[in-house]
Amino acid sequence: MDFVPSAKELSHFPFLKKAQDHIKDIFPPLDVLLRQERGKIITDLALKRINQALSSKRTFIAHFQQRDEDEIAGFVLSRIIASCIQDKQLLDRLARYEAERAYYFLVSELGTEEGERGWNENTVLDDDGYSPIAKYLAAEFRINITEAHIPLVDYVEIAAPLHDERFKLVNRRVHRGFVEIKKEERYELLRERIRVILRRDLPYKIPKSLCEQLAPVSEPIKKVYQAKMLQQFGTIEESAFPPCMQALVLALTAGTNLTHAGRFALTTFIHTIGMDVMGIAQLYARSPDYDPEKTMYQVEHITGRGGAGTEYTAPACAAMKTTGLCTHKDALCEKIGHPLSYYKLKKKDQLMKK
Ligand code: SF4
Repeated sequence: MDFVPSAKELSHFPFLKKAQDHIKDIFPPLDVLLRQERGKIITDLALKRINQALSSKRTFIAHFQQRDEDEIAGFVLSRIIASCIQDKQLLDRLARYEAERAYYFLVSELGTEEGERGWNENTVLDDDGYSPIAKYLAAEFRINITEAHIPLVDYVEIAAPLHDERFKLVNRRVHRGFVEIKKEERYELLRERIRVILRRDLPYKIPKSLCEQLAPVSEPIKKVYQAKMLQQFGTIEESAFPPCMQALVLALTAGTNLTHAGRFALTTFIHTIGMDVMGIAQLYARSPDYDPEKTMYQVEHITGRGGAGTEYTAPACAAMKTTGLCTHKDALCEKIGHPLSYYKLKKKDQLMKK
């Protein structure tokens, strides 16, 4: 492909390899940049991205106020800050936010239905209505958006985490190893591919000294995020647990040994909704093979307090199904894709009925 994206296009899709190349020689090393005025602008841009990723109401602004290069650097810095914070859910949210943002820019190149002027209104679309940057982006993420079919193997890989019924393979037309994709769905698949790839690369290995330098900006985010989580999950309401988690708690209480996957799922779930390490360990005291030291070690490892400090997230429904832990599904399960979403919805529902 001969097309060369403009700096403006790169700033809207800063994860493109070309975007990284574009800023490579512009900035001094990060520890130096952070001490400069321009570093402050870039830090602000990075924080805006993270705050947007954490916000439940996201707004995408297609017309940037800052230089294109600063926007790209802001993207990179946001990923560095999030990597220093070391919270899996924050990294998940950031990747999701970037994918949604890219999707928004793909569909609003020429303007929005709400009448907002397009950020790339001088681009020339091909006969099928695709812009050069959209095709360039799709090619880098290995999706051919100009084709009405994609290979079954690729489809399964991309669509597996999508909860929408229409993406389930049983609801698709499959012909000779290819899955039919409607035009409007192609950008949705691209969005998902971007999310997965952006998430896969995180967390970066950041030198301790740089994380320390970034602590004045990363620590407040961590605090706000933790407060938000607490507000979201509040007090622990066992009656709002999804059926799979209720079954695991029941099994523990009945004295059944949980499998490794079961322990992992339950521990990460109750940790995320706010149970502290001691509380989790006490829950495991109901288990017949309870070994206090071993339990504390495992719990601390999963919750990120021990060893490498990695905090794990509760598995999504798709993973729970694979490990055979998705049991007694109910009607609410049909609406969600994650046990944590089930818990949030059920708890909200219970609160409203009170
Ligand atoms: S669908 Fe999800 S929330 Fe419901 S039981 Fe299965 S794993 Fe749990």
